[in-house]
Amino acid sequence: MKYADFYQRSIATPEQFWQDEAALIDWNTPFTQVLDYDHPPFARWFVGGKTNLCHNAVDRWCLPGGQGDQPALIAISTETNTERSYSFNQLHVEVQRWAAMMQSLGVRKGDRVLIYMPMIAEAAFAMLACARIGAVHSVVFGGFAANSLASRIDDAKPVLIVSADAGSRNGKPIPYKPLLDEAIALSSAKPSRVLLVDRGLAPMTRVEGRDVDYAALSAAHLAAHVPVTWLESNEPSYVLYTSGTTGKPKGVQRDVGGYAVALASSMKHNFCARAGETFFATSDIGWVVGHSYIVYGPLIAGMATIMYEGLPVCPDPGIWWRIVEKYKVTRMFSAPTAVRVLRKQPPEFMRKHDLSSLKALYLAGEPLDETTSSWIADELGVPIIDNYWQTETGWPILSIAKGIEDTPTRLGSPGVAMYGYKVCLMNEATGEECGPTEKGVLMIEGPLPPGCMQTVYGDDQRFVDTYWSDVGGRMLYSTFDWGVRDADGYYFILGRTDDVINVAGHRLGTREIEESITSHPNVSEVAVVGVADKIKGQVAVAFAILKDAAAGTLEQDVMAVVDRQLGAVARPARVYFVTQLPKTRSGKLLRRSIQAICEGRNPGDLTSIEDPSSLQQIKQALL
Ligand code: ATP
Ligand code: MG
Repeated sequence: MKYADFYQRSIATPEQFWQDEAALIDWNTPFTQVLDYDHPPFARWFVGGKTNLCHNAVDRWCLPGGQGDQPALIAISTETNTERSYSFNQLHVEVQRWAAMMQSLGVRKGDRVLIYMPMIAEAAFAMLACARIGAVHSVVFGGFAANSLASRIDDAKPVLIVSADAGSRNGKPIPYKPLLDEAIALSSAKPSRVLLVDRGLAPMTRVEGRDVDYAALSAAHLAAHVPVTWLESNEPSYVLYTSGTTGKPKGVQRDVGGYAVALASSMKHNFCARAGETFFATSDIGWVVGHSYIVYGPLIAGMATIMYEGLPVCPDPGIWWRIVEKYKVTRMFSAPTAVRVLRKQPPEFMRKHDLSSLKALYLAGEPLDETTSSWIADELGVPIIDNYWQTETGWPILSIAKGIEDTPTRLGSPGVAMYGYKVCLMNEATGEECGPTEKGVLMIEGPLPPGCMQTVYGDDQRFVDTYWSDVGGRMLYSTFDWGVRDADGYYFILGRTDDVINVAGHRLGTREIEESITSHPNVSEVAVVGVADKIKGQVAVAFAILKDAAAGTLEQDVMAVVDRQLGAVARPARVYFVTQLPKTRSGKLLRRSIQAICEGRNPGDLTSIEDPSSLQQIKQALL
């Protein structure tokens, strides 16, 4: 089928389109209405239908004669040197045990359960158990500092927190329990119970009457039978806070039915899923990729999913490829930042493994520069598929749907609008839609397709005020990203709207300049920010990491590349060389903080920063 036709159908007759897609999942009670958009921008999908995410991810595959004995969840930790594989049947047992434990701790349908866990199988069990009994999970990235955790506890008001003694990084335990205790002390909404998995990595002090040990409690629920709670499609399934790159995490609330359908569709059309094969997403359950494409998506598609705890370079940079070989991974999902890390390693580690099972590598989360993309494509010899989306949408907005048509990818572009998304580019100044090659803000006309956020948790007004605007009678959702579309409908993301630079009246995306700089053969990574300038309004300033610091690359050499490719107007006023850039724990550049430092301001809320010493380097460079 032609993708253009498929897409057109999703836009012209969305109700028929999604009615058909809804057949990809099991419904306990059929829906009576595909879409209710009577109260824009609030969209309700599959009204009246009853289903369950856990049923579709687990129970569905455990029927007699089914694939119950095939692998479902493979938890690999190079931190603790463990590998545990659970078949769908075993997962079914674990999930029911967790559901019974949660019920015994007073968790009921609609209650929030906060999951603050490392990348261990129990974290996935806890998520699926919540889904099973209709509790609303909120996974918080393990290792977030106490104040980030406290703000999320206050917002989600969980009745139960599930946690562990410690995570681990580079073989060093990172105790969670002290952070958790501190966060609970800081928060005003106190959970009544805390369920703790003791991995034996760090000592824990228990709070009498509140803290419960998993090992003891699970023994009382070994062969528990907990039936699925069927939920109306629009009941909430989870709340997940956005990455906080722009400093204000928002509690994204998602439904049940729409999400299950969107994942089943995207697994089929984007990730070409086949039941029985193995999917490997290298993300973390604390991020949206972890929710959609480590836990729910692959399982809903009947695939085995790999959960990996560890660094991409330990015990050596071949570890991911060893996993691909061993488990015959067919589809892999990672982020450009991880690929850049691998690019700095000797290539032998990748080349010595048999990667013939791998069919494609999907990358998302931040701009994929052409250099990184071409390098990994050459190394792996499989298509590299960029996909652009947000915590808010839950699944790709822009990509290439290889499962529908083998449309070519285009370097530097995440692809075309995905089915269901009425993507448009708007000129901020005129409020008019942009033509081809005209830059504008990437927006989506409502209703958002199934799977996207329902609202900001507990704050409908914030959802409306933050994201939506009425442009000439059209309700438009803003992605807050800036982009451009070519004549063939391929989009290019130019940066966040906050990151657009205005140099002497010229509007430039930081992304364009970064892309140009990384094409210099000795630059492995770069961040460009706009810095206030008395004469030009703003100037671009670049912080670059060199592959080989001893190669004698000069500031002028880097500027010359930009001059050649984009013109002198885009040339950074300064190029500083550093060895590390400030990033969030999900690997996104904190341009906002770099910019603040350059302008002598306070770098702001840094709760999601990966390594604070990277900011020190920026300060040093400026001296
Ligand atoms: P916050 O909204 O809290 O500031 P965040 O926007 O970083 O945090 P996410 O929802 O994790 O949180 O990230 C989505 C953003 O990541 C997108 O809006 C876009 O800026 C960027 N992004 C994601 N995928 C891509 C991609 N393939 N190409 C370019 N940018 C991408
Ligand atoms: Mg965002």
